[in-house]
Amino acid sequence: MALMITDDCINCDVCEPECPNDAIYLGEEIYEIDPAKCTECVGHFDEPQCVQLCPVACIPINPEFVETREQLMDKFHQLQNKQDA
Ligand code: SF4
Ligand code: SF4
Repeated sequence: MALMITDDCINCDVCEPECPNDAIYLGEEIYEIDPAKCTECVGHFDEPQCVQLCPVACIPINPEFVETREQLMDKFHQLQNKQDA
């Protein structure tokens, strides 16, 4: 599953620099997560870093992007290959 940021976000800027996939960016009003880049931190960390750090707990699973751990690992490898290219 990719994660998503709800409108409870207070734009504290804590999560964005900690995402290992550069999946978090400032949208029009609040921070947002690019589901194509979010691996739930699979491949990098045991726990989603943004969820660990968010002070208002506004980062749930995105129900529109349901993925297995294997699919998340595939996404991780694809992102790594892009970085290396
Ligand atoms: Fe980035 Fe990990 Fe949060 Fe996904 S779960 S947005 S990869 S920090
Ligand atoms: Fe928003 Fe939470 Fe990220 Fe802060 S850590 S910018 S409140 S999603």
